[in-house]
Amino acid sequence: MTSLWARIEPLLARVQKPARYIGCEDGAVTPRHAPDRVSWLLAYPDTYEIGLPNQGLQILYEILNERDDAVAERTYAPWHDLEALMRRHGVPLFSVDTHLAAGDFDLLAFNLSAELVYTNVLNMVDLAGVPVRSAHREPHHPLVVLGGHCAFNPEPLADFVDLVVLGEGEEVIGEITEVVRDWKASGRTPGSREGVLRELSKVPGVYVPAMYEVEYDGPQLRAVTPRYSDVPATVHKRTVADLADWPYPKHPLAPLTEVVHDRLAVEVFRGCTRGCRFCQAGMITRPVRERPAEQVRTMIANGLRSTGQSEVSLTSLSTADYSGIEQVLQSVNSAECGTNGAVSVSLPSLRVDAFTVGLASQVSGGRRSGLTFAPEAGSWRLRSVINKLITEDDLYSAVESGFSQGWNRMKLYFLTGLPTEQDADTYGIVDLARNCVQIGRRHTNRASVTVSLGGFVPKPHTPFQWFGQNTTDELRRKVQLVRDAAERTRGVKVKWHDPKATAAEGIAARGDRRIGNVMERVWRDGGVFQEWSEFFRLSRWEEAMAAEGLSIEWYVNRHRDEDEVLPWDHLSAGLHKDFLWLDWQAALAEHGLEDCRWTPCYDCGVCTGYGIEHVVASPVPPAGGSQGTGQDLARGGEVPVQLLTRPRRDEPVGAEVSV
Ligand code: SF4
Repeated sequence: MTSLWARIEPLLARVQKPARYIGCEDGAVTPRHAPDRVSWLLAYPDTYEIGLPNQGLQILYEILNERDDAVAERTYAPWHDLEALMRRHGVPLFSVDTHLAAGDFDLLAFNLSAELVYTNVLNMVDLAGVPVRSAHREPHHPLVVLGGHCAFNPEPLADFVDLVVLGEGEEVIGEITEVVRDWKASGRTPGSREGVLRELSKVPGVYVPAMYEVEYDGPQLRAVTPRYSDVPATVHKRTVADLADWPYPKHPLAPLTEVVHDRLAVEVFRGCTRGCRFCQAGMITRPVRERPAEQVRTMIANGLRSTGQSEVSLTSLSTADYSGIEQVLQSVNSAECGTNGAVSVSLPSLRVDAFTVGLASQVSGGRRSGLTFAPEAGSWRLRSVINKLITEDDLYSAVESGFSQGWNRMKLYFLTGLPTEQDADTYGIVDLARNCVQIGRRHTNRASVTVSLGGFVPKPHTPFQWFGQNTTDELRRKVQLVRDAAERTRGVKVKWHDPKATAAEGIAARGDRRIGNVMERVWRDGGVFQEWSEFFRLSRWEEAMAAEGLSIEWYVNRHRDEDEVLPWDHLSAGLHKDFLWLDWQAALAEHGLEDCRWTPCYDCGVCTGYGIEHVVASPVPPAGGSQGTGQDLARGGEVPVQLLTRPRRDEPVGAEVSV
């Protein structure tokens, strides 16, 4: 393997932000390549600024580099300017650590966190000089791997990847390394690629699409079945039992240029049992596993020292729910963490019903720039449908806490296009924002609220996987309702996600293998960096769908029946399909569910299936017995407590409700 640096360096003088491609950050390793080591190139299919902070990639980078039989480097999607120069000068995709050609690695592993980056995967594989279709690859080509949340429905990319990792990677990457190490030792002989893929398909958590036959019945999927008897009919996700065993990253990367989330990130827990029905991350990462508070403090102290950062972000799906939050916050600005008062803390995922004045006073140090909450829907009725059980009083009390502690700007996230949504729910968004501004004006004349509107995309492995996504026109109409109402409201601004991009996300999110040809057409037509609005054009996707004889209405806007075979049914996130269906029926009946961390189990399948129970750093439920979704709601008198009944798998709930 030879460094391409001498050919890359002259190109960097002619591109924006050459620091994206240099590597050598604090925290980067000096890789020790050797013939008997398996080489991984960990790829993020977006720019360096977005990819570098990715925790999953940093964790695997360190774990692999600690092994005797592996070595890992990183790569990010080159921006258009460098890509054009690379293609003109015949420079392939390269690693940023030592500038080796991507095609010389044993594995090229992509982290997928959003649907609109799929075409970047094809582009990077092609730029690596590797055939984009897995069927055309030879033994000397890298194995192309997918992981991350979008891997839970990888079918639109099934023809382009060799293997998919479902769930958390800490343990399974070692098992994959061992299989590939043996393959390398055997000489990677002609024809051996099929054999190593079959071996890999037996590793728990690894899905090899080429080992499965797909049958259709007209437009409907009939079945996805293994080609061989030793290949599993269902692939189950991997889950790390105890985060305390994995205190990574120990040496976080300090970026060379400005990046998104430019701060130290420390993961405090994984999983979420709040049960928000639109949230794929919450469903597929169950159960809750908290990191011990002591370990969090150590990771903060070490990370601040090694990166020189002055801000730490405590990450999870709902950080205020972390049972050790007060302890950790109290210790951050203390000698215990080696800081003595100079560190800002951000909590990027805040539930309003767990945000208190005490918490508000401890986050962000002296900085009070902006605070973000996600009520998601404009009325209690719709929040019951989506199971985001926060009352208006919860929201106003959190907003009051924020404004009273010195913030003057709030951002509120909402989704449009949710199941059963009516215009009254949509107008409710502006009503909530207006009331929040009024609360803020009691504290500061500069109080303002920005409403951020996203279009809802139903996701696999959630109770809403059967729901027909709103059309582009309908989403556009709803955005306009909010904009018109906000125009008449002082202090409220609106930002919105392009409904056209939401349509393309819908194609990819619940697509089957036939969508692969669409992806290839969009990519060949120049459709890369599709999550960047300046490069997105829905007409590209529409033309590609039409050329393949596929209907957007059928893939995106159609409601699914209970007995329909879904493209991801052979991939398991641990959730019983009948639990999800019952939860969908409960949603239509506007039944909310309490957090199962503090209530009896709903038998969703995750804890029982994996033999793991929730791991809570401090196993004491909050006062009232729940995190504000159950008894707190009942006490507030706004919600009849009987709405919080639990469906059981043997006891269907809900009436027929139109969506
Ligand atoms: S198995 Fe029970 S306790 Fe575990 S996540 Fe599912 S519903 Fe909650």
